[in-house]
Amino acid sequence: MQICNVHLFDGEQRHSGLFDIHIEGDRIKSVIPHASVGTTDAPDVIDGAGGWLLPGLIDLHVHLSWNGGADPATDISNASEEENLLETVSNALNYLPHGITSVRDLGTPHDAALHVGKAIARGKLPGPRIFSSGMSLIMTGGHDPFHGLPVDGPWEALKGVRRQVAQGAQVIKISATGGVYGRTEGEGVDDTELRKEELEMIMDEAHRRHVPVTAHAIGEMGIRACLAAGIDCIEHGHFIQPDMAQQMATQGIALVPTFYIYQHLAASPTIPAYARQKAVAVTEQHRRALGYARQAGVLIGAGSDAGSPDTPHPALLEEILALEDGGLSRIEALCAATGNAGRILGCGGRLGTVRPGAFADLILLNADPCQNLHALRDIRLVIAAGRPHQC
Ligand SMILES: [Zn+2]
Repeated sequence: MQICNVHLFDGEQRHSGLFDIHIEGDRIKSVIPHASVGTTDAPDVIDGAGGWLLPGLIDLHVHLSWNGGADPATDISNASEEENLLETVSNALNYLPHGITSVRDLGTPHDAALHVGKAIARGKLPGPRIFSSGMSLIMTGGHDPFHGLPVDGPWEALKGVRRQVAQGAQVIKISATGGVYGRTEGEGVDDTELRKEELEMIMDEAHRRHVPVTAHAIGEMGIRACLAAGIDCIEHGHFIQPDMAQQMATQGIALVPTFYIYQHLAASPTIPAYARQKAVAVTEQHRRALGYARQAGVLIGAGSDAGSPDTPHPALLEEILALEDGGLSRIEALCAATGNAGRILGCGGRLGTVRPGAFADLILLNADPCQNLHALRDIRLVIAAGRPHQC
């Protein structure tokens, strides 16, 4: 299959001129300057007619089991395991039509997103590639007990990692601090959760199994503890200070700020009041942290936290727009959801990029997103694993 006559943003930069993309199976075979004669009317050729081609978008932080209602954790706590699985499937089906061809699920009860991801990979369901942690690892009484596996002490932490890897987790998610939305009492964003010995055991065992670790981490001491223990990625990161940003850039530790949702929660009248008040208290600090990270050259990825309160699936476009509002350039915001995201998934050169050998996960837009990010709403064609998706 070929897609001819398209402008190109390749996940790192916008190229001038027009291009033809050849696809073989689920991979890109070649990317060459557009041949102006004799290609567009051949069989198996899609005439891009000067549209804008870019990698399929990647959302690095979703909760497919959550419904994005006012209080999804309560909803899912009242649901049976079967209802939870169906909720997860139905949310996953919402992604491809919006050009999101990969998601990273960071916390799902009963490992539901892991199972759905396997079904999609086997061709049983149409959906995005799902990179899932399954259940997250938390301390007893820690953040997000709704999908957390409590581990107390290094040996339980070790077993937790081994359990999730055995389930097929492609990433280990931990709660290193309290959160905004979580237990209604006795949980502050500055609280550190999981001890040094537990963190070190988790990193050591996960890395021994070639699986990265990412941490829900808001407060400064919790983030510092993760950086010291050898974390691969920080989620949220509100209280990152300039020296910590420098350390992250030097050690290649990524940041997925989930910038949109905290501003949104701070303004939302429908979510539980305790969560709204905590969100209000951290939004300005969040903006500063994003600035420090950008300035230091930290690898920044886009994650929406979709499924969380008042944030239905998908919410990646809102995150990309929020990243621009938070100080990233338009190109940087696009890279956060394409090239950078592929690297954070450990799939640099294969996902989030348009180059020979990469997976043919592509979207074709009617306008140039490098001029206006709202062009991402106007999708003409989605190709997932080399196949056009019927929207
Ligand atoms: Zn989350």
